[in-house]
Amino acid sequence: MTRLKILGKSWRLVHSPIPDDNLVHYGQTDHLAGQIVVNSRATPHQRLDTTIHEVIHVIDGELKLGLSEGNVSRLSSALCGVILDNPRLFQAKDK
Ligand SMILES: [Zn+2]
Repeated sequence: MTRLKILGKSWRLVHSPIPDDNLVHYGQTDHLAGQIVVNSRATPHQRLDTTIHEVIHVIDGELKLGLSEGNVSRLSSALCGVILDNPRLFQAKDK
């Protein structure tokens, strides 16, 4: 379990199997519990994309942006690509 801070609030990020119910679920966000679950059976790329996807859902909910599921998916895929194409960008730390 990892803690994420999103817009000043603390969220639990949990990697755990998510049961399939005729659909493959990569992630779930529980706003009341402050928890994001990412399917541990997904590939590393899918887990990264899903984590970003669920974070965007949190931001969307908190800021009441009204993003469609399609827009959340497109944004998460695009941001996932930026992160993977620029691996050092998010490892840099100011000293
Ligand atoms: Zn979604």
